[in-house]
Amino acid sequence: MKKLRRLLIRLFLFILLVVVAIVIINTVSYSSKQIDVAAVEKIQVSNDVVQRLSDVVKIPTVSYSTHVDSIAFINLFEYFDTHFPLVDSMLETTQINQFSRIYKWQGRNSKLKPYLLIAHLDVVPVEGESQARWTEPPYSGKIKDEFIWGRGTLDDKVSAMGILETTEILLKENYQPQRTIYFAFGHDEEVGGKNGAQSMCEYFLSKKINFEYILDEGSIILEEAVPGLTQPAALIGTAEKGYCTLELEVNLDHGGHSSMPPKETAIGILSHALATLQDNPFPSNISQNTQELFDHIGPEMILPNKAVFANTWLFEGILKSQLEKAPSSNAMLRTTTAPTIIKGGVKENVLPTNVSAIINFRILPGETSETVIAYLNETIDDERVKVIKQNASFSSEPSKVSSSSSFGFNALQKTTKEIFPNTVVTPSLVIAGTDARHYEAVSDNIFRFTPVQLTKEDLKRIHGIDERISIENYKTMIAFYYRLILNSSI
Ligand SMILES: [Zn+2]
Repeated sequence: MKKLRRLLIRLFLFILLVVVAIVIINTVSYSSKQIDVAAVEKIQVSNDVVQRLSDVVKIPTVSYSTHVDSIAFINLFEYFDTHFPLVDSMLETTQINQFSRIYKWQGRNSKLKPYLLIAHLDVVPVEGESQARWTEPPYSGKIKDEFIWGRGTLDDKVSAMGILETTEILLKENYQPQRTIYFAFGHDEEVGGKNGAQSMCEYFLSKKINFEYILDEGSIILEEAVPGLTQPAALIGTAEKGYCTLELEVNLDHGGHSSMPPKETAIGILSHALATLQDNPFPSNISQNTQELFDHIGPEMILPNKAVFANTWLFEGILKSQLEKAPSSNAMLRTTTAPTIIKGGVKENVLPTNVSAIINFRILPGETSETVIAYLNETIDDERVKVIKQNASFSSEPSKVSSSSSFGFNALQKTTKEIFPNTVVTPSLVIAGTDARHYEAVSDNIFRFTPVQLTKEDLKRIHGIDERISIENYKTMIAFYYRLILNSSI
């Protein structure tokens, strides 16, 4: 008996030793995926760019689902045409549905595939009560404390302006790219992009234009992105989640008087279904896209964290439970469930027969709206709860995952290292929606990345209160586009 115990202890120690050895070997051999690129000196950008961004913030191109504020967009295009004279005279423009605009910058070598830079010109409205909480009014374009304040300074007029400023500078230097470049500036991204991005994609399709790569807004350079990573992470979005809204409806034959309620009421049945979904989130899954993120940031981490990322075969559970703690990293792991509207009942003493709830899902690549519906039916498992697909303007399946070894990713990676040398560049998953999802038919390599460095606190300003960009960040963004255009010209 003693012998057997000793043998078992030895066996256990041996297995432990092997596991520890594997963990150490994997950690030591976990090699960096960061490329070795020398930092370049950023181009000097004059202060005029600051004034011009401030000027366009003052033009309130707010998106409404009911109509387009045509005057604002006309004023904005007029501003572009008068303040970027070389862009205006040397690039070809095409208006799509009046308020979206495509620019074409002809390259020297028509054998090279063109690429496309996307931005959107519309901004989200400012809710009535929140207006008073802004430090500077949202359409003031105030320049104060080294910042430019107002709607569009992060999302996403800033990108369009950055691209135009860079082009004007390059044209002044008599630069002509080898590869033709298109810009596509949409006017309705914030309400779904149907008349802007989608129509522009149809235009490109009709002209049989296919792009080497496409760059849209999406992720950013985030400070303190992941615990254990001391450098900021340059998150280049290689995919975005899908979007689907479903209604749960309970329709009973009888409502009745609230003095003699049945055992189960419509509200009770619906509540039970919602609680079941809350208790049973979609299974977590380290998708191809997230695995790539791990492989890029893992080797750059401080030691205990590096060992965890290098050994997901052993620590996957720990890693997932850590990521599940914060809503933003949880959203990278699974399709998320967000009940947003609930309806039912009209009078305090009448049992309603019909009640419903609206739930918004953000779908992980690899799943579809159909698998979401199937999961709901299976999980709720109650025939009285009907699952009905809604036709939301943002509805889309998850995007394809763009390759991190493609020309476009390499150009972005190189440029990021040149301009932001102290960052870890990594593919990532964008958990919100962008116009880029409309362009899948015209390119296999679509990236979502705005070259600005922000803190987690700053992220709340996007669609929130006190949207602003630092002058330093904006000038660096122009330096980034400048290098990107040179690096993509090959
Ligand atoms: Zn945006």
